[in-house]
Amino acid sequence: MSMDSFFGSLFDMVESSKMEMDRCPKCHITFQDFQRSGLLGCSYCYEHFSKSLIPTIKRVQGGLVHTGKIPKYASQEVVSRRKVDELKLRLKELIQEENFEEAAKVRDEIQELKKIFEAGEEDAT
Ligand SMILES: [Zn+2]
Repeated sequence: MSMDSFFGSLFDMVESSKMEMDRCPKCHITFQDFQRSGLLGCSYCYEHFSKSLIPTIKRVQGGLVHTGKIPKYASQEVVSRRKVDELKLRLKELIQEENFEEAAKVRDEIQELKKIFEAGEEDAT
């Protein structure tokens, strides 16, 4: 990732009002000046402004880790849980229709899917 796109994406998330009074002590450009021009006034700017940016960077990176890394079993589990919800509705319908033979099959299918959840939970710990 280039420095430009890195700060570009960061600016979208940072409230500029919060940075308004933040000035480089050496060349006195504000964070807003930097944001507007994309240029640093001196070599100290990056160091100075990065102090303000670090908590945001950490938050952004933390968020990416959580959304980007989904274990394989987890996505399978999501699909299975959805399937169970569907089967439970189907089971309810079948019981209302007094179709107990079919209901028993659906109930067994739900039990099978629940085993997948339990296996997934064991892997996670
Ligand atoms: Zn500066």
